[in-house]
Amino acid sequence: MYTIDNEIQIRLTAIKWLEEQKAIFGKTLPRKLLENGFIFNGERITLIGARGIWKPKQMVLPISITTSPNSPYNDDLEGPCVLYKYRGTDPNHSDNKGLREIMKRNLPLIYFIGTSPGNYYVESPVFIRGENRELLSFRVVGQEFKDKSEEEILQVSEREIEQKYSFSTIKKRLHQPVFSERVMYAYNYQCTMCRLKHRELLEAAHIIPDSEGGEPIVPNGLSLCKIHHAAYDKKIIGISPDYTIKVREDILRETDGPMLKHGIQELDNHKIILPYHKKDWPDPERLEERFQAFKLV
Ligand SMILES: [Zn+2]
Repeated sequence: MYTIDNEIQIRLTAIKWLEEQKAIFGKTLPRKLLENGFIFNGERITLIGARGIWKPKQMVLPISITTSPNSPYNDDLEGPCVLYKYRGTDPNHSDNKGLREIMKRNLPLIYFIGTSPGNYYVESPVFIRGENRELLSFRVVGQEFKDKSEEEILQVSEREIEQKYSFSTIKKRLHQPVFSERVMYAYNYQCTMCRLKHRELLEAAHIIPDSEGGEPIVPNGLSLCKIHHAAYDKKIIGISPDYTIKVREDILRETDGPMLKHGIQELDNHKIILPYHKKDWPDPERLEERFQAFKLV
């Protein structure tokens, strides 16, 4: 068993080890790898386990927090913080106390966000900066706020976040990779319009764009190949709320090569391919809003 003072070495080694794994595996890491963890002074340190707030047996305080693939990670956001729910409803549950101690000592933690069963996006180090007792949550921030107090962080305005921190806040960093992975997984890694299954050619599109307040959740997403993503964004193709593909009138009248003919015009009036689980289907209300904008062109 280590003491709180000397287990900092385990934390730093774990963070470095995860960086190395990301270089091998890419954006997301398999759960098995994290369960097996790494060897520190001859002992195996596990990084993820049965509980969201995870403490390896050799340590006094938690090393990681995890959001499962089915849970929203961004239900509640506060300024540049991500809110992480307490274990249960008792603020004094031992796991919650552990995180509170991490906060007091300003120790680095690892944050795993599930993108599909058995796969996790990793954000590390993260720090705990206060609590929202009403929402039974801790405030989690990234490295960029390591030296700022809770009061200072909560005073950072939306504008400042946009201008100063742009893509460096934890919220923004998590948003794109977690959203993309979750959407593509829901659609079984194929284009919802043309069935193309080459992952390297697929992207997750927002139905209501990010810039208009569209949420990074699967029902606001579509898995599309690059060409259909661009065609959807540029309003060359629309999707009606009953999941029917509509190609813009003037485009239907054009004459050109096979890409236009087979890749675009022939999609007109076909249904999109829906995700396996109904909860992941694109939200008709959001489709309708976007479809209205398409029809105005
Ligand atoms: Zn496509």
